[in-house]
Amino acid sequence: MRAALIREVGQPFQVENITIAAPVDREVLVEIRASGLCHSDITVAKNGMGIGLPAVLGHEISGVVTAVGPAVSRIKVGDHVVAAALQPCGHCQACLRGNLNACSNPDALDRSTDAEPRLEVDSTPVVQMQGLGGFAEQALIHENQLVAIDPRMPFEQASIIGCAVATGAGSIFNAAKVRPGQSVAVFGCGGVGLNAIQAAVLAGATTIIAVDIQPDKLELAQKFGATAIVNSGTEDAAARILEITTGAGVDHAFVMIGVPAIAETAMASLGFGGTTYLVGGMRPGAALDVRPSPADSGLLSKQQGVRGIWLGSSNFYADIPMYVDLYMQGKLNLDDLISRRIDLDDINEAYEDLERGGIARSVITFPAVG
Ligand SMILES: [Zn+2]
Ligand SMILES: [Zn+2]
Repeated sequence: MRAALIREVGQPFQVENITIAAPVDREVLVEIRASGLCHSDITVAKNGMGIGLPAVLGHEISGVVTAVGPAVSRIKVGDHVVAAALQPCGHCQACLRGNLNACSNPDALDRSTDAEPRLEVDSTPVVQMQGLGGFAEQALIHENQLVAIDPRMPFEQASIIGCAVATGAGSIFNAAKVRPGQSVAVFGCGGVGLNAIQAAVLAGATTIIAVDIQPDKLELAQKFGATAIVNSGTEDAAARILEITTGAGVDHAFVMIGVPAIAETAMASLGFGGTTYLVGGMRPGAALDVRPSPADSGLLSKQQGVRGIWLGSSNFYADIPMYVDLYMQGKLNLDDLISRRIDLDDINEAYEDLERGGIARSVITFPAVG
């Protein structure tokens, strides 16, 4: 089958033919139908981040199940599935509490190192990032990472639920638990940010401030429900947010772009009891300037917080079907999040586009084989 490989850190994706094994135990073979291009994949491709090579990246996947291992119980051949970029063992204390990203044995879902590898090229094992490897025609995935969905759900819109929707909307619903009447600021209006904005609308937030440096993204943010927009390239974002909230500051500030200076601006735009949520990945060694004294930021006296969120604090077994329902009911706009449909061969060019920053999401689509 064809897959886009990363063979060396900093090199482009290379589309090659690789071998995929047959499913054993609790593995599921998925014919991939759509695979979203998330920014974090290109960060890994450019910086390595400790991943073994060669590797297949890609973690926003939807597809059809074509074969299952003998011990698979939750998924069957013919199911339409969405994958999650978490590897929950399913039986540790964190998993039992629904804190899937805190699982204490995520390696339990991989094949043991002495077994035949799931993916191979020229007799070399190929790493499947996060147990998925979505930039390929097929993927062999542990059933714990898959959720069967309503087959009427279109594949492209389904694929982006796994990361962009789960991270953006999950930040609002699961981590911040935004309530009706509250105020929200979202820094960075790409796929994740737009999902946070539309989730804030669903949660009943009445002030939703979108912050970005690109006018076309801010325009899209308004379409998704932002009540005010701030161009941080031309305006002092914290000052503008205080002005928009008539001096009160916001209850929740979400930092979708992993840049410390943006997080600091978010902290400066908070009101009493407000929280800054760090959502976008930060580089190793990234540091925030936090000055809690009442004489400085007032974080202490204003009882504010800073909190990290990983994949929207999602329990994806419950969340993915909910997002599918919200889409099918017309309450979640996923159509306008997909700006481009591409072939696997166009992956490098599409990532260059994404890095130029003008678009919400490109999705690789694969024709049905069966
Ligand atoms: Zn676990
Ligand atoms: Zn992602």
